[in-house]
Amino acid sequence: MDEVRTGIGWDVHRLARGRVLMLGGVMIASEAGLEGHSDADVLSHAITDAILGAAGAGDIGMHFPDSDPRWAGANSLLFLRHARDLAAARGLEILNVDSTVILETPRLKTYRTAIRQKLAETLGLDVDRVSVKFKTAEKLGPVGTGQAAEAQAVVTLVKTSGKPT
Ligand code: MG
Repeated sequence: MDEVRTGIGWDVHRLARGRVLMLGGVMIASEAGLEGHSDADVLSHAITDAILGAAGAGDIGMHFPDSDPRWAGANSLLFLRHARDLAAARGLEILNVDSTVILETPRLKTYRTAIRQKLAETLGLDVDRVSVKFKTAEKLGPVGTGQAAEAQAVVTLVKTSGKPT
């Protein structure tokens, strides 16, 4: 059987007025956006960490430290692509991505197709291999009271060559 590896990713960012809300590389119409050193795309960060985790390649902070001015305002799809390339260099190909964004407002379902397409394009995958789900926090905790957004992701990689991991 081919070697199959799984990685998990999680991220949280504060919401603030005057910031752009980017999720999976798609700009979302919203009164508040996410704060962070990069574009603060919480979904792309969670998926990046899941890929890195499955590849045994550390975490996003290791590869893109928020103390590095190069990543100020950076498009987080760049991090995602880097993680994909790093996995590929180890002979690991992405089988599928599943993810959840937890955000109280705005409702995101009208963006699902655009986000899946953008992530799939960035990772070089068919859209049916990329899943994005949306939840609210039922008004509970910092996410539920509109102070933050969270994202979770699981990624499965399959070994495609004899390269050592
Ligand atoms: Mg982050």
